[in-house]
Amino acid sequence: MAGGENAKSIVCPTCLYRTGQIVVAERTNEGQETDWFLCERQHKTGISWDGEELPTQPLWPASQKDKQTAHVVTDELAKGADHNTVMKRLVELNLL
Ligand SMILES: [Zn+2]
Repeated sequence: MAGGENAKSIVCPTCLYRTGQIVVAERTNEGQETDWFLCERQHKTGISWDGEELPTQPLWPASQKDKQTAHVVTDELAKGADHNTVMKRLVELNLL
């Protein structure tokens, strides 16, 4: 039981970091250490919880931080930033 009850649904990281959209991804496979998720747009994401702290709050619905992240990504993309620039901006803002 990898991420536990709080990791049943997550914000799809591909949608969030690539498009600035908040889309739910449901867990499709719960492993010993790694959970697999699939979002409505068919992005598959694996999260390894090995050595990580398990979430103490449900990861869905989106947190304030996720919403802030979405806002920044949308803004940067509108300015024509590429993916690396977007990620750097998120690091600068302590969102990543
Ligand atoms: Zn997605």
